[in-house]
Amino acid sequence: MSELERKQERAPVPAGWDYASAPEARDIVSIRERYGLYVGGDWVEPAEAYTTIDPASEEPLAEVGQASPAEVDGAVAAARDAFENGWSDLPAAERAKYLFRIARILQERARELAVLESLNGGKPIKESRDVDLPLAAAHFFYYAGWADKLEYAYPNRKPRPIGVAGQIIPWNFPLLMLAWKIAPALAAGNTVVLKPAETTPLTALAFADICQQADLPPGVVNIITGGGETGRMLVEHSDVDKVAFTGSTEVGRAIARSIAGTGKRLTLELGGKAANIVFDDAPIDQAVEGIVNGIFFNQGHVCCAGSRLLVQESVADEVLARLKRRMTTLRVGDPLDKNTDIGAINSAAQLERIRELSAAGESEGADRWSPPCELPARGFWFAPTLFTGVSQAHRIAREEIFGPVLSVLTFRTPAEAVEKANNTPYGLSAGVWTEKGSRILAIADKLRAGVVWANTFNKFDPASPFGGYKESGYGREGGRHGLEAYLAH
Ligand code: NAP
Ligand code: MG
Repeated sequence: MSELERKQERAPVPAGWDYASAPEARDIVSIRERYGLYVGGDWVEPAEAYTTIDPASEEPLAEVGQASPAEVDGAVAAARDAFENGWSDLPAAERAKYLFRIARILQERARELAVLESLNGGKPIKESRDVDLPLAAAHFFYYAGWADKLEYAYPNRKPRPIGVAGQIIPWNFPLLMLAWKIAPALAAGNTVVLKPAETTPLTALAFADICQQADLPPGVVNIITGGGETGRMLVEHSDVDKVAFTGSTEVGRAIARSIAGTGKRLTLELGGKAANIVFDDAPIDQAVEGIVNGIFFNQGHVCCAGSRLLVQESVADEVLARLKRRMTTLRVGDPLDKNTDIGAINSAAQLERIRELSAAGESEGADRWSPPCELPARGFWFAPTLFTGVSQAHRIAREEIFGPVLSVLTFRTPAEAVEKANNTPYGLSAGVWTEKGSRILAIADKLRAGVVWANTFNKFDPASPFGGYKESGYGREGGRHGLEAYLAH
């Protein structure tokens, strides 16, 4: 350990920690050279393929299929066949058994899947290990429990499945978003065709293996890989009854337009620009941890990230000083190192977008700050960044950056905090930090956001519904609410 640094009356802290690296073993996961499409319980050799890479090194990991119209067609047909010929008529308790089996296999293979998630997506292993995997398994356990209790969830209604669900997920929580989509769909008796994001197909393909391992009847889950065009074909396929999408507002809007009038059911979970509001009576150290978790968790690739910090003017200097000090301790680097706090940016395209918006922040007059931090030479990296002097009109206060970039604004009164927090086209989440319970309730009541966290941030539970207001989308995932999207009216 190097020298100690003494700050005011506080205990001395090391001026720099020299951590030894603590890499997770990469060889617990075996990646095939080439993956097919998983259709009707079998691997189908794709006509076209592309290479998926490790964003931390830009090394190729595997070849995966680029599903064509005929291949999308085949996957939807397999899902239809499985729906008509068995799955939807299976006694609900039998369906539940498969879901429990999948949940247990996810737990058993958690370490391997966590490594695969970090390799293909760039997120720190401590997050894939401690957040993504446990939550993915928990979703399957949770919805397994509902499968034979749907009549209790919806009394006086005969809950029936809708049919074939086309599901499209993003790259920020690949396996967890898959679990959010597949678990309630199967619990309600639907079959699915799922398309993972182009940059992060590998855990979805590993999930296909898990379906085989669980003896899930062929065609109940189909995984097709490919780019946005494959997604569009799935959405527009005439034999898909329900579409579930998580991703950008732009694509969500296009999807809503394309299926309007078709009778297909749709849920959209889109972007966000959440306010994290810190009042002057908040426990400052806890709030600083919450701010850090809110924006730097998963490199800020989080739709509900607390990307706008609203701090009460009277404590702004103190909060900022402590926040900057905390940010200097964040470790950026190898996603497979157990000490890493901030991993790689998911793709070159996303890095470009973060750079572009950060440059716009500077040119519009906000003050940019990052702690000193050395970034690896290869791969896609972005240092944790903070902007002060941000006005509500700045692009960095309005647009989703989807990276480790925090915009700081101040307020004087609770009414001003609410007004600024709601001054956004989005409405996915928000945070409130205060010692006062009555203030938490009063403010939460006025915030136009699907989830409001109080004295915490980015907490998820399968029993808790999640979804947006305004341009953050519609429909809820998670909880009993999440079943509704997969049941016929
Ligand atoms: P995106 O294009 O919306 O991607 C989400 C998913 O939709 C991916 O599987 C994507 O496939 C697919 N897709 C793309 N075009 C489609 C279409 N026309 N029809 C059907 N599916 C389509 O998001 P992105 O380009 O990865 O990221 C752009 C921005 O979106 C980010 O900077 C961020 O602000 C936001 N975003 C939000 C979330 C969220 O959780 N709310 C997640 C990711 C991104 P490909 O992967 O092949 O493009
Ligand atoms: Mg895209």
